[in-house]
Amino acid sequence: MGSMGRARGFFVLVLVVFWLLLLRKSGKFPQLFLRKMKKKGQNKMSDNKKREVTSSDEAPRSNFIRAMIDEDLKTGKYDGRVVTRFPPEPNGYLHIGHTKAIALSFGLAEHYGGVCHLRFDDTNPASEDVEYVESIKHDIKWLGFDWHDKLFYTSDYFERLYDFAVELIEKDLAYVDSLNEEEIREYRGSVKEHGRPSPYRGRTIEENLTLFKAMKDGEYEDGEHVLRAKIDLASPNMKMRDPLLYRIRKGHSHYRRGTEWCIYPMYDFAHCLSDAIEGITHSLCTLEFENNREIYDWLLANVELAITPPPEQTEFARLSISYFVMSKRKLLQLVTEKHVMGWDDPRMPTVAGMRRRGYTPESLRDFAELVGVAKANSVVEYEMLEYSVRNDLNFRVPRVMCVLDPLKVVIENFPEGEVEDLDASYYPHDIPKEGSRSVPFSREIYIERDDFMEEPSKGFRRLVPGGEVRLRHAYVVKCTDVIKNDVDEIVELRCTYDPETKGKAPEGRKVKGAIHWVSAEHGVPVEVRVYDRLFSHAAPDSTDNFLEHLNPDSLHINKSAVLEPSVINDPAGSRYQFERLGYYCSDIVDSSPEHLVFNRTVALRDSWSKKQEAKPKEAKAEVASSSPSKKSKERPQKKSRAEIREKLRSDNPELMARFERYQKELGLTREEADVLTGDREVAAFFEAALATHDAPRS
Ligand code: ATP
Ligand code: MG
Repeated sequence: MGSMGRARGFFVLVLVVFWLLLLRKSGKFPQLFLRKMKKKGQNKMSDNKKREVTSSDEAPRSNFIRAMIDEDLKTGKYDGRVVTRFPPEPNGYLHIGHTKAIALSFGLAEHYGGVCHLRFDDTNPASEDVEYVESIKHDIKWLGFDWHDKLFYTSDYFERLYDFAVELIEKDLAYVDSLNEEEIREYRGSVKEHGRPSPYRGRTIEENLTLFKAMKDGEYEDGEHVLRAKIDLASPNMKMRDPLLYRIRKGHSHYRRGTEWCIYPMYDFAHCLSDAIEGITHSLCTLEFENNREIYDWLLANVELAITPPPEQTEFARLSISYFVMSKRKLLQLVTEKHVMGWDDPRMPTVAGMRRRGYTPESLRDFAELVGVAKANSVVEYEMLEYSVRNDLNFRVPRVMCVLDPLKVVIENFPEGEVEDLDASYYPHDIPKEGSRSVPFSREIYIERDDFMEEPSKGFRRLVPGGEVRLRHAYVVKCTDVIKNDVDEIVELRCTYDPETKGKAPEGRKVKGAIHWVSAEHGVPVEVRVYDRLFSHAAPDSTDNFLEHLNPDSLHINKSAVLEPSVINDPAGSRYQFERLGYYCSDIVDSSPEHLVFNRTVALRDSWSKKQEAKPKEAKAEVASSSPSKKSKERPQKKSRAEIREKLRSDNPELMARFERYQKELGLTREEADVLTGDREVAAFFEAALATHDAPRS
């Protein structure tokens, strides 16, 4: 090794050691390592068996929620019961963020021998639908979880919830307010000032009871009255300033209750009480409900409950993934405005989309486990999801050959009309799974156009004029002639094959490259859909108009690909690795034996990062800005933080616009505006804060 080589080797070693230390520190080291070891030993098992091993037997990583449950079990708080729930609102399809919540609540119940309820939180008749109920049930089952007989609907509790509201009114802990929405907000005050009592706060119990009943009986229109809890208008927690409990929603038919009800409970009221009705012990939700916990506890402390102690709410970090939007409202918009083919478009972050794309339930569960459970929000890199998918598919799917961009090759010394059936193993030897198929070899085959170079660049190890290459599972061929059309394009190659080279190295010479191929006569035409990210912005959710960042090249349809014939009659949804290309899955909606359609699930390697590397420095700033202090070779001089913030703004017109607006409209100083717009996460946080507190300076 020369000194350059030694230096490079040392550098790689240092990197590896550093990476291992990081993994150890983050607690991921043993899990990643164990997962790999386990997978190695189980490949002869069927897919189903494998699922049981990877997902159930593998002890979930410890986290603060598990520590809390362990403690509750130790102290006997709930008499050893662990009852969790997953409470989706049936107003959209499940997305990968929900998968995290599902894996957590169902996973904990599984782990502790408890049960997880599936409860549809269906308290808004305007947006909910039975289509969503069915899709959610289907997705949860597909992910491999089971609610057994614990399927519930908040809408089944409407009568009991109404009684709880009456109980609160009777205790003078709730009142009918007749201010409108705008006035209620105004009266609620701000972080700096206390709220003022509504002029209707002093209504008598009798008056409230009569009015509330009249609301229920449909005597008032939407917005005329609401029911509010009487808590504390001076509470530092704005949520505790007399939260809304009920509102009137007339003119909508609820998908389960029809027009029986025209008042509907608010989340804060319905959720904790539904938990209590069902005897939930641990109610896990995302961090944005942290401030709602006080209402949760207050309500449960102020009504007569059949169970004690009451359930307890615990928050965990929401899953966000770079380049994804994860709000159901935005996903619905993508569907209704036809930016995608539907909820199950393979580019969507929905469970249905990922299933159609070829992701496995195991890979999504592995991903949830890899992400872990934290108390602080963060953004997970998209590559981590792809890693989980690739890692799972690698050990599971058979390899077959498909040529995406065919170039015809005529093997001149192979007899015309003859066909040789070659035995080709489905798995490489480092995957101890067995099985093979027969692949027809004939005089005319297709190879990938870019596996041939007339004037090869340095290091090109595939086919070149006069050179040799191995055809996978077949023979070594030598290129003898290149045939071109009038416009100098290569239309065909002439080759000879060496009959002595089937399954063994040619004598006396080295052939380095091996390429995939398909018999021209036997290959079947397939449509191949290749997906890129739906958004070209790393954080589309943080921008003013996420639709502006739709990636116009997120779908590429290839209608000229040719696939080996062995797969024709496999059921739709079958997954394969197309050798040397990536993982593919036949489309469960559009594929049929007459017209095969394949989705690329994930490329073999992460081509995206490489593409980013190749981009000019300015284009990379968007991505790099999330870790501005990272040292890089391209940045010989360390920039000051102020310079980094300025650079980020100059690359991002939206941040720049905010920088101006914060000074001009919100009256912030230049320094304040600078800090608030020099980091995307801080900027997003500030915008979110502005949305709830109209006091930018504070
Ligand atoms: P959205 O904000 O997209 O409308 P949501 O939270 O209103 O989503 P629900 O159907 O109410 O959607 O969610 C059901 C459960 O899933 C909730 O307990 C919620 O906390 C959890 N959940 C939703 N999104 C995520 C996410 N990105 N990461 C983790 N859990 C999530
Ligand atoms: Mg919700």
